[in-house]
Amino acid sequence: MKWVPGTSIPIGNIYCVGRNFADHARELKNEIPAGPVVFLKPTSALVSTGDAILLPRQSHRVDHEAEIVVVVGATLKNVTEGEASDSIIGFAAGLDVTARDLQDQAKEKRLPWTVSKGFDTFAAVGPMASRREFRDSEPIRLSLRVNGQIRQSGSTDQMIFSIATLIAYLSSVFTLSRGDLVFTGTPAGVGPLHDGDFCDVTLNEGVARLSIGVKRS
Ligand code: ZN
Repeated sequence: MKWVPGTSIPIGNIYCVGRNFADHARELKNEIPAGPVVFLKPTSALVSTGDAILLPRQSHRVDHEAEIVVVVGATLKNVTEGEASDSIIGFAAGLDVTARDLQDQAKEKRLPWTVSKGFDTFAAVGPMASRREFRDSEPIRLSLRVNGQIRQSGSTDQMIFSIATLIAYLSSVFTLSRGDLVFTGTPAGVGPLHDGDFCDVTLNEGVARLSIGVKRS
């Protein structure tokens, strides 16, 4: 059994949204999407602070994608954006780890991204910080340092689809449940991870944090 990191809530599904920051969509030469781009990660991929990201032998290019991870606190189906917002119980700092070479091959062949996004340790999520520690009226800031150097930074006010829009949209397709996680997309600056790297992802300069090393598997 796995739990939402930092809580005693059993983990549910792990939803991810791609291309939710225009600057990142451009850097990968993707179109700005007309609606949210959704994919899933298996719960077997979940790791947290104190674990390590393992670089699989099958890939020669594993990228970091720093993301704000939303923790859903209620059962949701066809909810409004207001109901979606009210259901959030916390946020965590995360890395949507991606085997970019395998993803590029899949994109070229119009095949699913599951393998490139789903290796063990590819869903790295720090301990949840309660929603009370964030102000509803202010954007949440995200940043990633690798070996102490800033690699990615962004904020919820740069998202193409807001967090409330994403959750409401997801609930129109899936029944969301308490313990589901939603990776909400990455800003520009994605890049490769190497054996021995150390990643530090923060929300609002440390209200939530993920600290995790990188090793060859
Ligand atoms: Zn991502």
